Amino acid sequence: MNRLFCVIPCYNEQEVLPETSRRLKEKIEDLVGRKMISSDSRILLVNDGSKDDTWNIIKKLHEEDEVFQGINLSKNMGHQNALLAGLMTAKDLCDMAISLDADLQDDIDAIDAMVDKFNKEDCEVVYGVRSKRATDTFFKRFTAESYYKLIDAMGAKTVYNHADYRLLSRRALQALSEFGEVNLFLRGIVPMLGFKSDIVYYERAERFAGESKYPLKKMLSFAIEGITSLSTKPIKMITELGFFIFFVSIAVFIYSLVRYFTGHTIQGWTTTVLSVWAIGGLIMISLGVIGEYIGKIYLETKNRPRFIIESYIGDKEDEEIADC
Ligand code: UDP
Ligand code: MG
Repeated sequence: MNRLFCVIPCYNEQEVLPETSRRLKEKIEDLVGRKMISSDSRILLVNDGSKDDTWNIIKKLHEEDEVFQGINLSKNMGHQNALLAGLMTAKDLCDMAISLDADLQDDIDAIDAMVDKFNKEDCEVVYGVRSKRATDTFFKRFTAESYYKLIDAMGAKTVYNHADYRLLSRRALQALSEFGEVNLFLRGIVPMLGFKSDIVYYERAERFAGESKYPLKKMLSFAIEGITSLSTKPIKMITELGFFIFFVSIAVFIYSLVRYFTGHTIQGWTTTVLSVWAIGGLIMISLGVIGEYIGKIYLETKNRPRFIIESYIGDKEDEEIADC
């Protein structure tokens, strides 16, 4: 039978962890009872440098029940890296791993269908996709929708309305570990792995308690990160824009010449100043976009570790395997 690891990144989640852990444990017991997963399946909670009581809660959970394992990162490394730390630890220990958020927004009952697709249909990747976004604010819905469209236009492949709720088989995890990028944008990388995949739809609930750890600023940088790590189209668009502006200026030049020779000199202060500002702005944006990529190259060449694990609490054998 197949061993399942549920991987959950947690950053200041003391309000939700007791409930999340209770429901997940129930789910694991239910699946074990129905012989869908092996009895040594585990719930791996990754503490991403929380400032509250999250790590103590995880340690206590582990002491009370061995179904809970914990990873303590040395500091806050960000959602994607925390998730990666969990997945990379799980990769040598499990047959499949399901990643989900701590706040119970990802419907735990969708796990059944995901496991079924792995067990019966040999899917190596199963995406959890929200069927509607009714619980999100209009703003979040609008920005998310525009973002998926934008990313699509950039030529990158992502699964529409899929965040980080997904099942990955051991084989998919091994493949994922080959992607050594410092800035790993998981929801863009996973579709690149290939393998047989499928989708499970679920209704996204509201955050159970606590508040979102993605304020607007973080959301924006995550969005830019996603695009620049998946596509170089923005740089090509700058070149295209440059050509376009160049041709427009030639047209304007010819027009002015014609006006000059026909005796109508253009008296245009406004047009001159406006075009200086417009082109100045475009140049700055263009430099900024190029800068994003250069910054990325800079970070990637350093090849720094994406996460640092301070401690890992699990079953004795698991700790030994994960150590190597
Ligand atoms: N998270 C994390 N590190 C961070 C920020 C968030 O591990 O620096 C975790 C958080 O605990 C949660 C998941 O990532 O389990 C998603 O965060 P959140 O629910 O706040 O995002 P939202 O659903 O609002 O987009
Ligand atoms: Mg959330």
